[in-house]
Amino acid sequence: MYRTGHLGVSMLVFAPIGYLLVAAGEPLAALVTGGAMLWLAMLPDVDHRIPGIPHRGPTHSLLFAALVGGAFAGAGALLADGMGTVDRARLSLFGFFVGSLSVGSHLLGDVLTPAGVNLFWPWGREFSLYVTRADSTIANWGLFLLGVFAVAAAGVLAVQGLP
Ligand SMILES: [Zn+2]
Repeated sequence: MYRTGHLGVSMLVFAPIGYLLVAAGEPLAALVTGGAMLWLAMLPDVDHRIPGIPHRGPTHSLLFAALVGGAFAGAGALLADGMGTVDRARLSLFGFFVGSLSVGSHLLGDVLTPAGVNLFWPWGREFSLYVTRADSTIANWGLFLLGVFAVAAAGVLAVQGLP
């Protein structure tokens, strides 16, 4: 999947979560989650730039999602220590959620394509839903537009309240 498609999938995953966070009275958490998900949407594809690592290998696994989640949990704990006023466990958990969800959304985008992803790396098996080719312009832009629409709809619903 290309950048537009990945951003679209990330927005589609974020929309209901962002809505729930805003509805729960946590608009800042929604903003941070959405921002991180867009920022990290292409993170697993850093394997294009690291020599010796196969594309859609280790960085396209649940293990990597957990690792990034762990890094964010650590950052959350440090942040909580620095601020002193927030619950450390809660912020770590939120960090883990944001980090792993960001990578997970990328994996979801790639799982749609025939090449699939090595979800359970180092167990070498590719998983694919065979929905669309990674280079499909229609799929990439379709997902992007769907994502924008979903986030806009979630935003309107969150502000206006459910009918
Ligand atoms: Zn990828």
